[in-house]
Amino acid sequence: MNILVTGGAGFIGSNLVHLLLGGDGLPEGLIVDKVVTLDKLTYAGNRENLARWKGDPRHHLAAVDICDGNRVAEVLKEHDIDVVMHLAAESHVDRSIDGPEEFIMTNVVGTFRMLEAFKQHVIESGRAKSSNYGKGLHEGGNCLFLHVSTDEVYGSLGADDPAFCETTPYAPNSPYSASKAGSDHLARAYFHTYGVPVVTTNCSNNYGPYQFPEKLLPLMIQKTLRGESLPVYGDGSNIRDWLYVGDHCRGISTAAASGRPGETYVIGGKCEMKNIDVVKALIETVRELAPEVNVGTADELITFVTDRPGHDRRYAIDPSRISNELGWEPLETFSSGLRKTVQWYLDNEEWIDAIESGSYRGERLGIGE
Ligand code: NAD
Repeated sequence: MNILVTGGAGFIGSNLVHLLLGGDGLPEGLIVDKVVTLDKLTYAGNRENLARWKGDPRHHLAAVDICDGNRVAEVLKEHDIDVVMHLAAESHVDRSIDGPEEFIMTNVVGTFRMLEAFKQHVIESGRAKSSNYGKGLHEGGNCLFLHVSTDEVYGSLGADDPAFCETTPYAPNSPYSASKAGSDHLARAYFHTYGVPVVTTNCSNNYGPYQFPEKLLPLMIQKTLRGESLPVYGDGSNIRDWLYVGDHCRGISTAAASGRPGETYVIGGKCEMKNIDVVKALIETVRELAPEVNVGTADELITFVTDRPGHDRRYAIDPSRISNELGWEPLETFSSGLRKTVQWYLDNEEWIDAIESGSYRGERLGIGE
C-alpha cells in the first residue's frame, strides 16, 4: 500500500511515519510499500523529525498545504495513494483562542479539500469502480481515508459523568475543538453521501517524543531542567486522559487495518489524571533520570496561573469498541511512557535547541519566554 500521512512532520504524524516505515508493532494487514508525508511545514512541522528516513526510497516529503486542493490531487496521483491518514491540523488550543481563523482554514477547509481530492482520486484511478471499493482494508478494500481527531470535540465532563464513547454527543468549547468537530462531520458526510470509505478516530491527550515544546509535558520538562517556575492553569485540578504517542499510532494503524468504514473509534489510555499530578510525576521522573541536575521540589517550582477561558474540566475515554472489536490496547502505563518521554528529551537536547533558536526553520520563536 502507498500511504499518505498529512501532518507527518508534526508530533503524532512523525511518530506514525516511524511506525509505518519501521514496521515494529504494525498491525497485520497493513503492508507498507511507500509513505508520503504531506505537510505545510508550519511552525509545528519539522523536517528533522523525519531525518532518519532521508535517502530511504520508501519515504517522500511533499511540502504542500492541505488547503491547496490542486497540489493535493497531484500528490495523490503521482504516488498512486491507496490510504490517507489525515493528521494535518492546527493543534494548539491556546493559539486557537488568540487566532481562530487559521484553525478554521486548515482544520475545516483543509479537511474538506483533502476529502474532495481523495474522492476524485479514487474515481479517476479506477478504485471506485472496483467491487471491493468501500470495504475495510481487512475485507480486501482497495482504499481508505483515516481521519484523526480528538476527544475535545465531546466537550467537558462532570466528575461523575461516564467517559466519552463513540455515541457521546458533540459539544466543542474552543475554536480548536469546534474546528475539529467540523472536520469530523465532513468526514462522516463524505462516507454517507459519496460512499468514500472513511474511518474516524478520536483520541485523548498524547505525550511522547517529538512533541513541540509549547505543549504541557515538553514545556514542563524543559522548565524543570532549567529550574524555571512551572505555570499550571487554575488550581491544576483539570483532568485529562493521557496516552503515550506510540500507543496512539498503533491505534491509528489498527483502525486503518481493520476498522469498518463509516465507523468511529475513540482511543484513550484509561489514564485519567489531574494536571497537577501529571506535573508532580514529571518533576519526580526528571529528578530520577537526570540526577546531575539540581531539580527543585514541586512546591518550589509550581505556580498557578489564571485559567484558560472555556477550559474543559475533565476528559475521559472509554476505548471498549477499539479494544473489543479490533484488539487494540495501550502498551505503556503513564509511568513507563513518561520515563521514555523524559529520557527522549534528555537525549535530544539539540532538537529542542534547534526549535528554540528557530534554526529548524530559520527564525526565532521565543519559546519559553
Ligand atoms: P502538531 O501541531 O504537532 O502537528 C501538526 C502538523 O500539521 C505539523 O507538521 C504542521 O506543519 C502540519 N500542518 C498544519 N497546517 C497544515 C496545512 N494547512 N497543510 C499541511 N500541513 C499542515 O499536531 P499533533 O499533536 O501531532 O496532532 C496531529 C493530529 O492529531 C491533529 O489532527 C490533532 O487534532 C490530533 N490529535 C492530537 C492530540 C494530541 O494530544 N496532540 C490528541 C488527539 C488528536
